[in-house]
Amino acid sequence: MNPFTFEAEHFFQTYKRLPLDIDRGEGVYLYTKDGTRYLDMFAGIAVNALGHGHDGIIRAIEEQSRKYVHLSNYFVQKPQIALARLLLTSSGYDRVFFSNSGTEATEGAIKIARAFGSSRGKTEIVGFSNGFHGRTMGALSIMDRSKYRETFGPFLDDCRVESFNNPVGLRSVVSSHTAALVLEFIQGEGGVRTVTPEFIEAIESLRKEFGFLLIADEIQSGLGRTGKFFAFQHFGVKPDLVLVAKSLGGGLPLGAILGKSLVAELLQPGTHGSTFGGNPVACAAGLVVLTELIEHGIMNHAAAIGKMLMKELWRIQAAHSSLVAEVRGYGLMLGMELSVDAEPIAEALREKHILVNVTDKTVLRILPPLIINEHQVNKFVRALNEVLAAIDTARK
Ligand code: PLP
Repeated sequence: MNPFTFEAEHFFQTYKRLPLDIDRGEGVYLYTKDGTRYLDMFAGIAVNALGHGHDGIIRAIEEQSRKYVHLSNYFVQKPQIALARLLLTSSGYDRVFFSNSGTEATEGAIKIARAFGSSRGKTEIVGFSNGFHGRTMGALSIMDRSKYRETFGPFLDDCRVESFNNPVGLRSVVSSHTAALVLEFIQGEGGVRTVTPEFIEAIESLRKEFGFLLIADEIQSGLGRTGKFFAFQHFGVKPDLVLVAKSLGGGLPLGAILGKSLVAELLQPGTHGSTFGGNPVACAAGLVVLTELIEHGIMNHAAAIGKMLMKELWRIQAAHSSLVAEVRGYGLMLGMELSVDAEPIAEALREKHILVNVTDKTVLRILPPLIINEHQVNKFVRALNEVLAAIDTARK
């Protein structure tokens, strides 16, 4: 049976699938069954940091699978230890909790925030407009967009969503009752939108005054994607808890909460856990990802190539100013805000064998594997220029 027909008839229809029958991936390219090669500017929505078919990841998966695939968290497991060590030394945090996914990291952080508040008379957890923290009920409770929330309420008590980048609004609601703020320093799903310095300043002064936890959702922006280990490092703050996932497991499901000691101590044996969290095969793959990022220079490469790509995108903006409203982001987490629907542009790029994601209707979200080189970036830039030029011409 045709896989597309089968999916349409038998799967819960939660995803809008692309009309491509992918057979395999290699580096920054994906290949369909008929051998057509696509440049992957999606990277599995920021998961495939080292691209596809990375030898080191494959080897680590194979070697760890031969030892054990699962033991349970009754056991101390070497792959978890090795990954935790590198994650903590690279991040400067004291402790880690491994989950399977981003949304589970968010749920764990919400529990920690409540535990933090329970002896301090604080229960309120604040998220920000346009944010995205996952699909579980806790995550949805600190998000505002109806496309994710509609029909699923009621949500958790004492959660609220405040305007992103509105310092005055935030000052008027935060109080001694606030246990935590959960923030994407660069919103991913929300359209690659960055926090302003004024907003950070307001958060930091309120944090001093009221003593709430600052929780950074770095699930999409973290682990080198923006050219620094965490996106918040572009803004000179240190959150109390950090959530990561996406690229952490090298394509296998893995997430983590990183925390300062004082906060981490809020969880005790039995109060939180996960059967699969910190799966040893995923951790072994994750160790390769972090080693490549930090010790083999991939993060610095992402910073440099990201700067080059950003310059090219600005050039495109100047050449097609009636179509491109803004270019924003850091490193290889870039967004191009269009003055028209972005979906037809992504489709036109697909016809040129380039895959790019659309978010927030008018934003091309550019998230290539961090190993992308100059030649491949130029290929993308040329194709994007051609597509926008064709639209410009058709409009005249
Ligand atoms: N937080 C952010 C910033 C994300 O981008 C995502 C996923 O796109 C999540 C949380 C949820 O992660 P997951 O899909 O692994 O549950």
